[in-house]
Amino acid sequence: MRIVVLAGGIGGARFLRGLKQAAPDAEITVIGNTGDDIHLFGLKVCPDLDTVMYTLGGGINEEQGWGRTDESFAVKEELAAYGVGPEWFGLGDRDFATHIVRTQMLGAGYPLSAVTEALCARWQPGVRLLPMSDDRVETHVAIEVDGERRAVHFQEYWVKLRASVDAKAVVPVGAETAKPAPGVLEAIAGADVILFPPSNPVVSVGTILAVPGIREAVVAAGAPVVGLSPIVGDAPVRGMADKVLAAVGVESTAAAVALHYGAELVDGWLVDTVDAGAAAEVEAAGIACRAVPLMMTDVDATAAMAREALALAEEVRG
Ligand code: GDP
Ligand code: CA
Repeated sequence: MRIVVLAGGIGGARFLRGLKQAAPDAEITVIGNTGDDIHLFGLKVCPDLDTVMYTLGGGINEEQGWGRTDESFAVKEELAAYGVGPEWFGLGDRDFATHIVRTQMLGAGYPLSAVTEALCARWQPGVRLLPMSDDRVETHVAIEVDGERRAVHFQEYWVKLRASVDAKAVVPVGAETAKPAPGVLEAIAGADVILFPPSNPVVSVGTILAVPGIREAVVAAGAPVVGLSPIVGDAPVRGMADKVLAAVGVESTAAAVALHYGAELVDGWLVDTVDAGAAAEVEAAGIACRAVPLMMTDVDATAAMAREALALAEEVRG
């Protein structure tokens, strides 16, 4: 079975770990969000791709959900001693090596997809990890400070400001001219099942779908498309997804996110059991909906979620 997953960082990576356990023989292709990418200290940092790679490759800091295990911060401290920031983005020494290798390869002319493949040769994530695009896309968030509107990089909004001010708009800068990375459209067209994990619907899955051709390919794909709600009990399970959902005029409810994707895009939708009451509204919109436990408390619980998603995909395949 060929499964394609459109994934962001932590939520996507944790779900993928469960999916691998639930479908050990499946050929899994992950289309990763690169809208979170940022250039720091002259280095290209791809937080979502690395979170997937480290999580599936056994190198992730489990408590944090991002960054390397057994990390030290000597380089960061030395940079700070020079007064060189930003200090709000935590890059550890081990993590730095990844960004150095990536930047060196990009500088030598390799596209991001080839670089990602090379990095994965070390980590062996057990999935094929493709960036959504080899072209630069950078998510910016419009905010208002003292009555003045300005745009900040997504990481500045998320990590530095902790989404403490309202997002007025979310713009994937560069997306409109970006091309899907090699293999992305082919993977979608050849998929038996397409899954949207509990990743951020706006700045993760939404950004991937904003690359011209990807949304169209998902809509045109013969495979059933099933999503898992990142909203449980009318709030994000972790993080501040409600802030960016509000920016696109979507309520933070499991049903509203399903309707935001719409029946054209998703055939099936899983909500948590606490949101069972939302199923009728989702079904009325033409999306098959089931209420099952959706908390990724451990790998077994996450694998059970993945099995439910695959079962719903079979059901809607008709
Ligand atoms: P990303 O979007 O995959 O980069 O990862 P994030 O961790 O930033 O966001 C994932 C989204 O999934 C957030 O909106 C969370 O509320 C949600 N999420 C995180 N953990 C869980 C979980 O255990 N269950 C469900 N259903 N959603 C989760
Ligand atoms: Ca992300």
